[in-house]
Amino acid sequence: MALIVQKYGGSSVADADCIKRVARRVAETRQGGDDVVVVVSAMGDTTDELLQLAEGISERPGPRELDMLLTAGERISMALLAMAVEELGHLACSFTGSQAGVITDAAHGRAKIIDVAPGRIRSALDEGAVVIVAGFQGVSQETDDVTTLGRGGSDTTAVALAAALGADLCEIYTDVDGVFTADPRIVPAARRIPAISYEEMLELAANGAKILHLRCVEYARRFSIPLHVRSSFSRNEGTYVTADAEGNVMEDAIVSGVTHDRSEAKITIEGVPDKTGEAAAVFTALAESGINIDMIVQNVSAGDTGLTDISFTLPAADSATALHTLEGIKDRIGFRGLRHDDRIGKLSVVGAGMRSNPGVSATLFSALAAAGVNIEMISTSEIRISVVVHIHDLEAAARAAHSAFGLDGDQIEAVVYGGTGR
Ligand code: ASP
Ligand code: MG
Repeated sequence: MALIVQKYGGSSVADADCIKRVARRVAETRQGGDDVVVVVSAMGDTTDELLQLAEGISERPGPRELDMLLTAGERISMALLAMAVEELGHLACSFTGSQAGVITDAAHGRAKIIDVAPGRIRSALDEGAVVIVAGFQGVSQETDDVTTLGRGGSDTTAVALAAALGADLCEIYTDVDGVFTADPRIVPAARRIPAISYEEMLELAANGAKILHLRCVEYARRFSIPLHVRSSFSRNEGTYVTADAEGNVMEDAIVSGVTHDRSEAKITIEGVPDKTGEAAAVFTALAESGINIDMIVQNVSAGDTGLTDISFTLPAADSATALHTLEGIKDRIGFRGLRHDDRIGKLSVVGAGMRSNPGVSATLFSALAAAGVNIEMISTSEIRISVVVHIHDLEAAARAAHSAFGLDGDQIEAVVYGGTGR
């Protein structure tokens, strides 16, 4: 007998019929003799709707009350699913994150899980119940207040519970058949990746693939929890994420997947004095304002001007804060000016095969050149190359890269079963 954690996303529990379908799937697993812990997201677009409601009441709702509000979404799904499972003749018991023992820090809206004390889950399992837990939430150790883990956090709840319970497998149910070599809405020739390593999945998730929450993958890697990402709308096998798999859809593929990200913006600091300590001062100020920087490009000063430009990318939502912070240190640093560009997109190619194969950059850059795409910035890791391009070129760039690395399938594989894409 195994212990399986199953997580169902918002589109899988969007309405009563969906919830009943999920209940049948849960009941089947239970009938197979395994213990089942289910983690649910809020129904459909509930979280967005709750946020809109709050915005209609207050321009800047307090973070504690916002978390109180948002956690209600998952509580609705958990109770309804428990009822649906009971209807099928199985014992079921739902728990909020706090009841399930998900203990976090006190950072409302982006709380980190610091411990999981699954005593009540264990007892309920021992009594033969299917346990259903509200995703994306916990309780702060310091304040005893309810917290949320950040958007998409239910994946992380599932993996944290799987780790704490020593589960054999964590299944992440969504509305597509797994992880694809690219977003099929942009690259129709994208193929399903049958198995991929944590490492590659981390790079994909960190660079725009929305299928898994980044922290969920980090957690799974840390505790070696095998993940199976699959559709709740079909019986198809999805994508296994494990330590040793490589995501090659073809034996000789160097690149496992291509991602794109439209959420970043670029800031250029013009005419920075080219002397020791300037970059440190700039990025210390940005860090103190809580801004996460992604790519950074700086060159030696042009000619004998003694001045250089520094460009960096950051989440577009943080641009205003960053510009304000930089204006504040302008006189101290003595730079000339700031330029801001939010019409950029980031394209990344990821693959463990890059380590042992030269010429990956050359292939990518040639493919982009042939597609008429200009490259604005470049950054690399051991298994990834990312480029910043004009937002209008992003989709063409993704298709060109996907083709150039031999990832195109000859038939359309991807089916999107549910969701509003919101
Ligand atoms: N309901 C939350 C959200 O929409 C958490 C989740 O779905 O994982 O972000
Ligand atoms: Mg959701």
